Amino acid sequence: MTDTNAAVPPRVPFQVPAHPEWPDLDPVAKADLSARITRLLREQNAVLVAHYYVDGDLQALAEATGGYVADSLEMARFGTETNASTLVVCGVRFMGETAKILNPEKRVLMPDLGATCSLDEGCPAEVFSAFCDAHPERTVVVYANTSAAVKARADWVVTSSIALPIVRHLHAQGEPVLWAPDKHLGRYVQRQTGADILLWDGACVVHEEFKGFALERLRRLHPDAAVLVHPESPEEVVAQADLVGSTTQLIQAVQQLPNREFIVATDEGIFWKMHQLAPDKHLIAAPTAGEGATCESCAHCPWMAMNALQNLEQVLMHGDQEIQIEESVRVRAVQPIQRMLDFARAHGIGGRRAQD
Ligand code: SF4
Repeated sequence: MTDTNAAVPPRVPFQVPAHPEWPDLDPVAKADLSARITRLLREQNAVLVAHYYVDGDLQALAEATGGYVADSLEMARFGTETNASTLVVCGVRFMGETAKILNPEKRVLMPDLGATCSLDEGCPAEVFSAFCDAHPERTVVVYANTSAAVKARADWVVTSSIALPIVRHLHAQGEPVLWAPDKHLGRYVQRQTGADILLWDGACVVHEEFKGFALERLRRLHPDAAVLVHPESPEEVVAQADLVGSTTQLIQAVQQLPNREFIVATDEGIFWKMHQLAPDKHLIAAPTAGEGATCESCAHCPWMAMNALQNLEQVLMHGDQEIQIEESVRVRAVQPIQRMLDFARAHGIGGRRAQD
């Protein structure tokens, strides 16, 4: 049962950046650039770790150079398993920070340190810490999409692929939960587990824009399509899903379900991996707005879009855009992350190449 009497701080405002405009590269220029990056990676004993939401060229290059493409749980795990001395994280800042928290001896670079996340932006550490202080009886569970300082205040870190089993485990032990920052995912977890959860008011700008009424109309046009929804989406979108799941679970559904068509409510960057693994399936983006309406993200994260081949080469040439985390924060933040990884291992959740 959610504690509705507790005061939750109002949603924290932040600026959503415009999508960056990357110049088109012809095939020869792209191949040359990819070859230069490959050489730089080899010279620096560096490896690419990319999220499913970044540009397909980056995902392809990560796979071609011995790197890894995955969801945030598996990205974190891969960073601890590789022998490379430099991790180049193509994704958003919390992913680079998680890699650094788990691998303090490694250099962690990102194409653009300005690539953050609306959930991270909307959960400043000092406000969040005061909220936790006001509810000392609650176990603090934070989503991976948070800063190192917020993780340092948490008891558990979770990703969308492991949130349900961890909260079920806490609920079984009678522990009430303080959840941050994504309220849609938190509500979904609350409904699925029946746990007592106090929700922070945050949301993903990409998933929050999916519209239930527009999805209903699209489903009527494609009655045989399976609807796949990431649980950061609003309740009225989740309610129409044939399958609700993490990015890895949505990719597996496209491979395994018998349907020929899929309506997909998550960032469109995921289509690259879905097409690669299930080339005969037809993918349709879930609608973000009704006719004539506008959207800020339009099903593609503006921060994920800050990653491109061009700035990847630059960061490998200049070594700037390096993740730095104060050691006193890191040693506290590593504990709830390690707790999640240990839980995953003990319960056989995920594991390398889980998406293959
Ligand atoms: S897609 Fe949403 S949750 Fe993911 S990085 Fe972008 S804003 Fe954050």
